[in-house]
Amino acid sequence: MAGCLDDQVAIVTGAATGIGRAVVARYMEEGVRGLVAVDRDGEGLESLAEAYADRIRTVVGDVREWTSHESAVATARRAFGRLDVAVGNAGVFDFHRPLARYTPDSLVAAMDELYAINVRGYLLLALAAREALTESRGSLVYTASVASQEAGGGGVLYVSSKHAVLGLLRRLALEFAPDVRVNGVGPGGTLTQLRGTESLGQAQRTLGADREASAARIAQTNPLRLAQEPEDHAGLYVLLASRRDSRAVTGQLILSDGGVGVRPIAPF
Ligand code: NAD
Repeated sequence: MAGCLDDQVAIVTGAATGIGRAVVARYMEEGVRGLVAVDRDGEGLESLAEAYADRIRTVVGDVREWTSHESAVATARRAFGRLDVAVGNAGVFDFHRPLARYTPDSLVAAMDELYAINVRGYLLLALAAREALTESRGSLVYTASVASQEAGGGGVLYVSSKHAVLGLLRRLALEFAPDVRVNGVGPGGTLTQLRGTESLGQAQRTLGADREASAARIAQTNPLRLAQEPEDHAGLYVLLASRRDSRAVTGQLILSDGGVGVRPIAPF
């Protein structure tokens, strides 16, 4: 049976767990020729390599570093001959910390770390993948967030970093046209183990540590009353990578958040 992504070659960053891992699984189902999974979690990548054998290569690396991206693109070309879609997804959270809870030093350290992962990591991927994507007339897809548009989706650093992702996907859509499409998926609260920053001592803290409590809390935030799973978003990454189904779509953010933007002002 033909898949939507037959014969395409992809890179996914932050592929070891959560939303990235669900995208890998779905891209595999949709027939990709090969996929390069990038993450700093070596164990998570090993389990992906076992699951997908010949069709996957892994790069253990930090998305803050140019070499991780350079190596991912070189691996895609060497192992699978081309690159059609690059998914920037690795990210960290700030657990809703307001500005008033920072000192000047902690703000500088946390901002350097969070922005380097959530924003610089996405730009480095774009820079590394541009040439190969231009050759294939492929696409870039970024994991943005409901926090790319809403003030309440995190603290000041996370919200502003995800707003920045919207700006960079729109600007890159302009710069990379007419050859490469650039779009984003904006998940709302999703049941993953999204972590915080080392600089705030939150590298081991996870968003969904108490799954039941998280599910109940997230479901209250959107009209569809959904606590989303990573798999709920994966099809949108397929759609945006599909030349057949989204050939004319670029510079767009598709929110996948249970309708946060249409919540009532008065209770209903
Ligand atoms: P997750 O922690 O399960 O996945 C993130 C992955 O990125 C992990 O495998 C982690 O090891 C990797 N990673 C983090 N920093 C890295 C670095 N410096 N270098 C290499 N790899 C790194 O969490 P998730 O929720 O699946 O997060 C994926 C993306 O989704 C993030 O960009 C996040 O901001 C975004 N997002 C999450 C939610 C949510 O509620 N979970 C909502 C909106 C957007």
